[in-house]
Amino acid sequence: MKFRSLLLFRPTLERKFIALASLIILVCSFIANIIIVNVYRNQLFAEAEKRALLLAKSTAISFTNTLLYQSLGLVEEGGLIENYITDLISDPRTAVTGVTVFDPRGEIIATDDYERYFTPPSADSVARWGAVETPRILTSDEGEAFVVLYPMKVSSRRFGTLEIRFTRQPEMERAIEFKHWMLTVTLAFAVLGVFLAFIVARTLAKPIKELAAEMTRVRAPDYVAALRAERRDEIGDLERSFIDMLSRLKEAAEERERQQRALIQTEKLASVGTLVAGLAHEINNPLAGIRNCLRRIQGRPEDTSQTEKYAKLMDDALARIEKIVRDLLDFSRKKDLLLKPTDLNEVIRAAAELVHLQLKKRKVTIELNLHPELPPIPGDRQHLQQVFLNLLLNAVDATPEGGTISVETLVEDNSVVAAVRDTGRGIAPEIRDKIFDPFFTTKPVGKGTGLGLSVSKAIVEGHQGSIAVESDVNGTIFRVRFPQGDGSHERTAPTQTVTEQTRLIGHENSHR
Ligand code: ADP
Repeated sequence: MKFRSLLLFRPTLERKFIALASLIILVCSFIANIIIVNVYRNQLFAEAEKRALLLAKSTAISFTNTLLYQSLGLVEEGGLIENYITDLISDPRTAVTGVTVFDPRGEIIATDDYERYFTPPSADSVARWGAVETPRILTSDEGEAFVVLYPMKVSSRRFGTLEIRFTRQPEMERAIEFKHWMLTVTLAFAVLGVFLAFIVARTLAKPIKELAAEMTRVRAPDYVAALRAERRDEIGDLERSFIDMLSRLKEAAEERERQQRALIQTEKLASVGTLVAGLAHEINNPLAGIRNCLRRIQGRPEDTSQTEKYAKLMDDALARIEKIVRDLLDFSRKKDLLLKPTDLNEVIRAAAELVHLQLKKRKVTIELNLHPELPPIPGDRQHLQQVFLNLLLNAVDATPEGGTISVETLVEDNSVVAAVRDTGRGIAPEIRDKIFDPFFTTKPVGKGTGLGLSVSKAIVEGHQGSIAVESDVNGTIFRVRFPQGDGSHERTAPTQTVTEQTRLIGHENSHR
């Protein structure tokens, strides 16, 4: 089940486009999201530092004044600075977490953190806190707090350094809030983007799908008319190329058809030639009979009963000649392929009838094993007759005197199959691939045209059928396969026996 659904998922262009566009939209929007959140947080931090510097500056001025007044004895020492520090820390708007005031030697004058009083100043801290010349900002390792060091001096007189610790907690909270908000917005836009990608893919794929459907629908011979290239974009170009290709295909198909018709006709005339040689003899017999009758009538013109008898015989003989000539004319007439429900058994019987003189001459027997319930096939009687005539004439040529040719019809896998089998010398393996080529013949000049099999193949393929050969030294079988018809054809009633064996030798005069 899972495997089936995997098979059903075709990686169409449309799906690929949607997947790729969605991936790009998602990746881009999340990268943009990260950049925007970072920029916003850095901006918040920069603003906080600016505010912190201003606060440090005003505090440093105020502390410097206090220290100056104390050194001048204008105010009493102690208390003032500590009070101010307590105010600063307790004011929630300032984000101040600690304040320490150092003298120029790095010793603490005042602080909120009493522990620091008891920490002796190191050389480093003296350099750091006592000797700050310009304001400095130091950030804690985790980045959640920072320290502003601000020098306290009046012109060149130094009073020490002010250190104020700030927390970044409020900025961080705002940054996180903003990040969540941005994430929601990004997600919403990503979903919208994917939806738009879907719509765009559908819009782009629609004409391609329509074109593909049209390509599947079009069938010869009227295919070019079914298409119209109205679009002015690349799809239109594709449609125009397709139409162009179709018309070239159509021309090629027409040309091939013309050539095939010419070939069929050539081959037909060639086999007419072969048949005529035999038929001349066939016509001569009744002619001789007619002359004989005439002589007898002339000998005794007064004998009306004899005249009547011979007139009847002459009429029969003339009917026979008429039939032979009509059959031959019928066969040699040029016609296009016209498919209608056809009984293949009848076709084979007629073809066997046409070659029976050749069979007789070579003393070859023909057996017809025709399936009594053979379904009709969509076929052209005359062209099919040509196919079986060619196969039979080849079989006669190949079969030695006294041999047998058999034709069998059967139904196999929804197809109607006819097999023409001879007991001839077979076809050498090295020429087996060539026998269906036009003009390939092993027969002497004047006898073979090399067109029989190639024309037969073209006719069979024109019926959507196929022709195959099997051959060894004991004989050859040509198997012709046709698709079954619609069953609307009324078949002639078959004989009761499954095998109909017609021995044409010996019944040659049955028409007379
Ligand atoms: P043609 O009969 O004019 O030579 P075909 O196209 O009918 O042209 O046949 C081509 C060749 O195929 C023949 O010359 C012959 O060599 C070979 N061939 C066809 N049918 C048979 C057969 N039943 N037995 C042996 N050879 C055959």
